Amino acid sequence: MGEKKNIITIDGPSGAGKSTISKLLAAKLHYTYLDTGAMYRVVGLQVHRSGLDLETAKGKKELTHLLDSLDLKLASGADSQEIRAFLAGEDVSEAIRTPEMAMVASRVSAEPEVRIKLTEMQRAIGNNGAIVAEGRDMGTVVFPDAKHKFFLDASTEERALRRQKQLLEKGQKIEYTEILSQIRKRDLDDSSRALAPLKPAADAIVIDSSEMGIDEVVSFILAEIDEGMTRETFKH
Ligand code: C5P
Repeated sequence: MGEKKNIITIDGPSGAGKSTISKLLAAKLHYTYLDTGAMYRVVGLQVHRSGLDLETAKGKKELTHLLDSLDLKLASGADSQEIRAFLAGEDVSEAIRTPEMAMVASRVSAEPEVRIKLTEMQRAIGNNGAIVAEGRDMGTVVFPDAKHKFFLDASTEERALRRQKQLLEKGQKIEYTEILSQIRKRDLDDSSRALAPLKPAADAIVIDSSEMGIDEVVSFILAEIDEGMTRETFKH
């Protein structure tokens, strides 16, 4: 195997705290933060707006056209922690952050063509290293040669609570039981799909954050990265 890339991957199910943790790590290390879930959500939004029915041959064909002309960009907002997503120049950052778009994103993410396209874009962004890449298949498929891989998990109930709080802060009031069942469905769909299913990479460090605070998780990851670097140094 070649030289490992200067990439930190954070995979895990929804609501485990990946975004918060990844943003903090990227800021501390002066790395770029790559939110791959946002990319799937943007494609989901466009599929939704175009009214494609992916269950039909016609819909699949239209998906090919949609992906060929996909104009998707991620950029840092005013606060560099904040990532804005653009679809054909339109800022869709808020539009993609709804529970409905999360479900649509999960549906389109099972389409091989979508995964191929977004994997290619993600690798182009990560090519120069110095990134924290967050998603479901960062350590397994997109960046298998990343230097540091983590899989962030938490109990389903805890993740549903966190997600509810997060949505409430954005003014979206949704019943806990509804969020819980959406998370369960997404977990099942994401981990049972044929392509790039949600699972820890064989060489990932699994963290159960159910009972850990944000700072605790960040410190734990930074310590693991340091230790990994030290091990590398002594190997040479
Ligand atoms: O992380 P986020 O909740 O924004 O992701 C939305 C959906 O996009 C996930 O439920 C998953 O189906 C899909 N996704 C994926 N691979 C990634 C990131 C997200 O399949 N690397």
